[in-house]
Amino acid sequence: MRLLIIGGGPGGYETAVEAAKRGIEVTLITEGPLGGTCLNEGCIPTKTFCHYAELIEQNLKAGLDCKPSFAVARERKQSVIEQLRGGIDILLKNVQVVRGRAQFKDSKTVACDGLEYTADKIIIATGSVSASLPIPGADSCLTSKEVLELTEIPESLCVIGGGVIGLEFASIFRSFGSEVTVLEFCPNILPRFDVDLAKRLKQSLSKRGINIEVQAQVTAINGGTVTYVKKDKEFTVQADKVLMAVGRRPNTDGLKLEAAGIDYTRKGITVNDRFETSVPGIYAVGDVIGGIMLAHAATFQGRHALNAICGETDSTCFDLIPAAVFTMPEVAMVGLTEEQCKEQQLEFRCLKSFYRANGKAVSMDETDGYCKLIVSESRSILGAHLMGAHASDLIHEVATAMNLGGTVEQLQSVIHAHPTLSEVLQAALHN
Ligand SMILES: Cc1cc2nc3c(=O)[nH]c(=O)nc-3n(C[C@H](O)[C@H](O)[C@H](O)COP(=O)(O)OP(=O)(O)OC[C@H]3O[C@@H](n4cnc5c(N)ncnc54)[C@H](O)[C@@H]3O)c2cc1C
Repeated sequence: MRLLIIGGGPGGYETAVEAAKRGIEVTLITEGPLGGTCLNEGCIPTKTFCHYAELIEQNLKAGLDCKPSFAVARERKQSVIEQLRGGIDILLKNVQVVRGRAQFKDSKTVACDGLEYTADKIIIATGSVSASLPIPGADSCLTSKEVLELTEIPESLCVIGGGVIGLEFASIFRSFGSEVTVLEFCPNILPRFDVDLAKRLKQSLSKRGINIEVQAQVTAINGGTVTYVKKDKEFTVQADKVLMAVGRRPNTDGLKLEAAGIDYTRKGITVNDRFETSVPGIYAVGDVIGGIMLAHAATFQGRHALNAICGETDSTCFDLIPAAVFTMPEVAMVGLTEEQCKEQQLEFRCLKSFYRANGKAVSMDETDGYCKLIVSESRSILGAHLMGAHASDLIHEVATAMNLGGTVEQLQSVIHAHPTLSEVLQAALHN
């Protein structure tokens, strides 16, 4: 079988590696560098900066007068990207990698740089691009890609959008010393997260000196002046740099999906539960199908599509995709929010615990955090919402339990090592 994959991000290259392992003849066409948004301008560079921001905060707490410079963090970010890119090159040793922009000719043929490629099956994984607001001056704002290339820390930064990407940058730049204002249109930051969690994060970020305005509708940007309307009153924020972080849109630009007859909307390419498009044999995974735009979602969707192509099944539950926000403190969630439970008229109760009562968190001076488990009448876990140090790691214990259908009682009987942050989960289960 010949498989053609378009896009070298986590949805594309990881699927290519797995397909090659299974003996499939794979061609991967990618325009941008291997690793896609995730490695080159998303997850990995931001998390390298988050690491340095965390060092700054920890040193401050410990009373140490030692602040890593932004230049050092930038250099490290670049070397991390290069190191991981080299790793992907090696992983793709059995894949034909073509550099350039792919464009459909018909449902079996894709053109790139004057050459045509045919395949039995095709997977589209062309990712997403930064979205913007249709307002005057929007073009003058930095995108998340451009902000990663700054060579100096701005004295002040205005972030338009209080979603995951905007808040991560707000948290990073605040640690490096910028005065940061976040303007969010919705009533709460992190609009798709549990409201309780979002409110607690807002409080914590505000305590760190980040000014967050919710229900703020940005209407214009003029140089460093950002105008917004809140409760019918007009306000302005002055900032050295303005970051537009109002989400991302699926990248179907230039693919000529029409030539292959593939259905898509503004929200992305339409797929079924096997990630097959309206054209049999053509699949689409990752950010380009919209919905949950996360690297691990792209990877698992790619694996699921590959299994479908190979006539195999797997038990991946796409309703249980953990999400993490690498602010300080971190936030992580899996499953349903309290608001979704109410909308679905589910009977539930919330079990809560706090980092301040956890010995390890107190030792680490990381007492700002909490855990909320949403539990059904039958004592199964419907959702988990964590804020605090290592929340992004802790969430997987609950995600695993939820995938296996574990009940509160079953989880209560699992012995946890002491002292660990994982005891925060145990404390919630016993409350
Ligand atoms: C600042 C930022 C931080 C993020 N942090 C996280 C995080 O911490 N955790 C997380 O899970 N997710 C994070 N994300 C999201 C994550 O990066 C994406 O969900 C993920 O990269 C999507 O993978 P993908 O394979 O669908 O697409 P991408 O990674 O976007 O890859 C698509 C590739 O396709 C190529 N391409 C596009 N069009 C064509 C064409 N016509 N022909 C050939 N090639 C083409 C592109 O050049 C690109 O290389 C972050 C994103 C941003 C912007």
